[in-house]
Amino acid sequence: MLTGIHFLLTYKCPHECEHCFVYGSPRAKGTFTLAQVEAVLQEARKTGTVQTVFFEGGEPFLYYPLLLEAVRIARQMGFHTGIVTNGYFATSVEDAMLWLKPLQEAGIGFISFSDDQFHSGSEQDTAAKRAMSAAQQLGIPCGMISIEPPTVSYLDKERGTKGEPIVGGGVRFRGRAVEKLSQGLPTRPWHTFTECPYENLRDPGRVHVDAYGNVHLCQGLCMGNLWQTPLSELVARYRAEEHPICALLVEGGPAGLARRFGYPVQPGYIEACHLCYLVRRALRERFPEYLAPPQVYGE
Ligand code: SF4
Repeated sequence: MLTGIHFLLTYKCPHECEHCFVYGSPRAKGTFTLAQVEAVLQEARKTGTVQTVFFEGGEPFLYYPLLLEAVRIARQMGFHTGIVTNGYFATSVEDAMLWLKPLQEAGIGFISFSDDQFHSGSEQDTAAKRAMSAAQQLGIPCGMISIEPPTVSYLDKERGTKGEPIVGGGVRFRGRAVEKLSQGLPTRPWHTFTECPYENLRDPGRVHVDAYGNVHLCQGLCMGNLWQTPLSELVARYRAEEHPICALLVEGGPAGLARRFGYPVQPGYIEACHLCYLVRRALRERFPEYLAPPQVYGE
């Protein structure tokens, strides 16, 4: 049951992190207008199941007046609200409060700050930490997301013995991470990736929406386009088994998708998303409605 809508309020971001799976950057295009946000919220209400609305990106604070108004309207409509940000605006804790206080007054429910080596290098006193400190002092519920560069370990924790290589650190190998971080990492045979480990494609609990109208089940894998078919209808009609890509992922994972379309596989891939993303990228022209937008595929 769909309970959450996550707005990719903009793809633009002051950073250009290597692990970003939507290719956020200062040059990225695709930002919602307020009228578009309101239209999506109206449709979200029509579903009768959506309770929570998040605003993320890219970096949503780059369009601060839009973000503030969007939170205000979402709250007035009765949704729980949240934001994901890297806190770049926090030149000091005191000044960060100037940005956060109006959001608190608008009723923001939660703020998630992203802070790790990708965002801040080796800095100790980071903007995200200052922003989070400001949020805590104001009493806004908040948390931190940290993704570390890939690590390789060989320990089979269950048996306590040396096992197959395990890539840790939390990077998901989709988008820019494939281009920038996959070199030299150990792989596993392609045919072993027989399921999607992270997304419930059969019964999605949340989707991401962007200004182009794409309704993402996973970044770049779309249910359809909400500017062509209203969101409430798209959601009501969605059946994974009738979706040309999701049906295969549900049935046989990325390996099944690759096999069905005769994708020229390499012997190994780092993880399921690595194979899934590369097969989907190769199928973009065939399924432009479902594998979009181009920028999420680095185009
Ligand atoms: S990239 Fe593919 S395998 Fe990974 S979470 Fe998304 S749909 Fe699942």
